[in-house]
Amino acid sequence: MAPEPTPRSTESTAFRAALDVIRDVEPRVADAIGAEVEDQRSSLKLIASENYASPAVLLAMGNWFSDKYAEGTVGRRFYAGCRNVDTVESLAAEHARELFGAEHAYVQPHSGIDANLVAFWSVLSQRVESPALEKAGVRQVNELTDADWAALRADFGNQRMLGMSLDAGGHLTHGFRPNISGKMFDQRSYGTDPATGLLDYDALRETARDFRPLIIVAGYSAYPRLVNFRIMREIADEVGATLMVDMAHFAGLVAGKVLTGDFDPVPHAQIVTTTTHKSLRGPRGGMVLCQSELAEHVDRGCPMVLGGPLPHVMAAKAVAFAEARRADFCDYAQRVVDNARALADGLLRRGAKLVTGGTDNHLVLLDVTGYGLTGRQAEAALLESGIVTNRNSVPGDPNGAWYTSGVRLGTPALTTRGLGTAEMDEIAALIDTVLGSAQPGLTSGGKPSKAQHVLEEGVALRVAARAAELLSGFPLYPGVDLS
Ligand SMILES: *Cc1c(COP(=O)(O)O)cnc(C)c1O
Repeated sequence: MAPEPTPRSTESTAFRAALDVIRDVEPRVADAIGAEVEDQRSSLKLIASENYASPAVLLAMGNWFSDKYAEGTVGRRFYAGCRNVDTVESLAAEHARELFGAEHAYVQPHSGIDANLVAFWSVLSQRVESPALEKAGVRQVNELTDADWAALRADFGNQRMLGMSLDAGGHLTHGFRPNISGKMFDQRSYGTDPATGLLDYDALRETARDFRPLIIVAGYSAYPRLVNFRIMREIADEVGATLMVDMAHFAGLVAGKVLTGDFDPVPHAQIVTTTTHKSLRGPRGGMVLCQSELAEHVDRGCPMVLGGPLPHVMAAKAVAFAEARRADFCDYAQRVVDNARALADGLLRRGAKLVTGGTDNHLVLLDVTGYGLTGRQAEAALLESGIVTNRNSVPGDPNGAWYTSGVRLGTPALTTRGLGTAEMDEIAALIDTVLGSAQPGLTSGGKPSKAQHVLEEGVALRVAARAAELLSGFPLYPGVDLS
């Protein structure tokens, strides 16, 4: 059963004691940690990929598990003395399976990118390597002849993957050339309908039929709508592809039962990857969920592409997943989505332009060209006014991936703090005020700049003061007093 929330005084004592121990060795690190919580407390954080982990999650990471090597899997380690690591890794995996209704959970990936690498190589192992071994009549790669091994290596490099395009909201690890996934796979992209901004399943089906990928990757970092994973699986089945869903951004909405049925990837995809620190609100890390037939391949993630597991982080994953199994996490997930909708509505009512015209999930993609700004200028003007966001491309972005034309806004963090729909409407007003008062600056040559902005006198101070006032009603880590 869920543990009772820790009394406030206990949290203060725990963090103060930890900082005192650190201060004795390197006071500047203790000071930086203290300054970080103050920065987090005082900023209005709308970064869609960030959150605030609980004190229990944070504390589970700072301990002796960090010292243990534990390559292998539970009960089958390459190192002795892993009994306690086995306990926390099994707990994390068990909570994850229950939370997501998954057949198998692999909780070792150190990050979302690592989880994707594990997933890609699991599918390659299952669908390219295993048949080659079988054909050669051997059990493992070391037994292949040099010629068979060369042929298999060439085969690894000749596989196709279909992923969501970057400017439609996909992720760099879904087959793009700057990332290793784009160097490993021959990749093609699917995107959104230019008229509606919505995922175009018909076009995706056409591309899949023509391209016949080994893997179709679904999932996104900046798409404000739902993805129908039942349709994605139908398309994958039709062309013989494995469906992989990267739910790094929206795992918390799946755990919190806001995304169910066709919109829950776990029953539909053969393999699902995620981060654990975004909407899921756990420690910084990754995870792979899969159907049973992929389990043995996924479990070889370390040492295939991962360094030794981080047992302290697996301990924190177990704590975070236990938290996410409590009934109040469903309430949290629902509030994240309600807040995103309130933020979107507040912006729309003030005349702002949103990609797809709104949101169904935890994020809003604000197209700032209507304010005459680039994403970079908007991001900087908002930051100057105490509102932390990140610039993001919009579909077909005329300003490219560096300057961009959008700002991505997400509600998981502020919802953890307790802000609700009324506050979101006021935040929409603040954002509109800042962007409406900003103009492009000039380059040294006197031309309009894509990078510099000019804000009307007094706006930044006034908005930042109001943002601070708003936040003061919702203290962050109320149980932690470091003074
Ligand atoms: C954030 C993100 C990742 C990368 O996660 P890291 O933990 O930073 O490696 C991968 N995929 C998607 C879709 C993401 O949004």
